[in-house]
Amino acid sequence: MTRRLYYDDSYLRNFRAKIVEADANKIYLEETAFYPASGGQPHDTGSIAGALVIDVVDEGDRIAHLLAQPSVLNGEVECIVDWERRFYHMQQHTGQHLLSAVLMERFRIPTLSFHLGREVSTIDVETASLDAGQVERLEQLVNERGFENRPVEVGYQESGTASLLRKPSERQGLLRVISIQDLDRSACGGTHVRSTGEIGPILIRKLEKIRGNVRIEFVCGLRAVGRARKDFDALSQIARCFSAPLDDVPGLVTTQTARMAEVEKRLKKLLLEQAAAAGKSLHGATPVNSKGLRVHIRHVTGGIEDEARAEAQGFAGQGEAVFLILAASPASVLLAVSSGAPFPAGPTLKALLEKHGGRGGGNPQMAQGSLPSAESLAALSKDLESLLAA
Ligand SMILES: [Zn+2]
Repeated sequence: MTRRLYYDDSYLRNFRAKIVEADANKIYLEETAFYPASGGQPHDTGSIAGALVIDVVDEGDRIAHLLAQPSVLNGEVECIVDWERRFYHMQQHTGQHLLSAVLMERFRIPTLSFHLGREVSTIDVETASLDAGQVERLEQLVNERGFENRPVEVGYQESGTASLLRKPSERQGLLRVISIQDLDRSACGGTHVRSTGEIGPILIRKLEKIRGNVRIEFVCGLRAVGRARKDFDALSQIARCFSAPLDDVPGLVTTQTARMAEVEKRLKKLLLEQAAAAGKSLHGATPVNSKGLRVHIRHVTGGIEDEARAEAQGFAGQGEAVFLILAASPASVLLAVSSGAPFPAGPTLKALLEKHGGRGGGNPQMAQGSLPSAESLAALSKDLESLLAA
């Protein structure tokens, strides 16, 4: 059984301990301050006798320390916990207790689960939604409770007698209870700061709906400051693009996006008009064949664009004409014919597409379809070209 030193002293970061078992990269100590991955909190890192600790595993009664390289196999060893990583975990974890406590106290919303990530942490809470006003109030309240610098204490109670826990514990026997003075009592095996002031600022970020509940993303301490700095840098960069003050950026982005959509719409209209005009002049430049028709056949490597369709319409609209586009990728075809042409576009193309395993159709003037392969496109093209041959 490994004695867990972090249970009673989360601030212990340098200690000496006796090796009770070791083989190559795995070490068991008599007692340890290294926290194993558990309850949503990641494991500690650090070193044992100079060898890097890369994983700490809770095996029930014992804690295994996995090392990056083989180390000494017996005796008493010097152990160092990576304090920056550990303290970050302690801040986020205690921040989670405080956040969950305020959510319960003020909003009657229970916390379902917790995950402590490398950059951000999340809790899943039992509610269908949280609006922007609630999030702002929650953030304000949780920071106020933090500034009150309430003591965070560790106590032990038998599961049968442990009362007033925020969330009932499924564990039996002796429970480790973490309390935030006059606010919260939770059964938890993790590491926490001594008082809520040490959590530092608490920043709520993204909300996400997950399986009918809400996932709240949050960051505490220096991570919150770092995140706010990144947000400020990103916003400043956008503000520079607009040569505008930071606070004007959201309004400017909204108006510019609407303006851009309008410009794109007008540009598209102009491009289609230009393509139709090109179709008309191409009609003028195309000689009349022996059947009295002007025929234009175009092979394209890509697909059939709206502009090509407008050009075909412009061409056929001038009368006594047929415009055919054969596109390679995806294999497709467009047929535009003038009213009064010897065959209608829709039924003619539909029949040929069906013959060659394709799909599509259209009206008497314009038809379009797709084919399963380059071979079927070539076969259909042959049929159409012989139909159009002078
Ligand atoms: Zn905890």
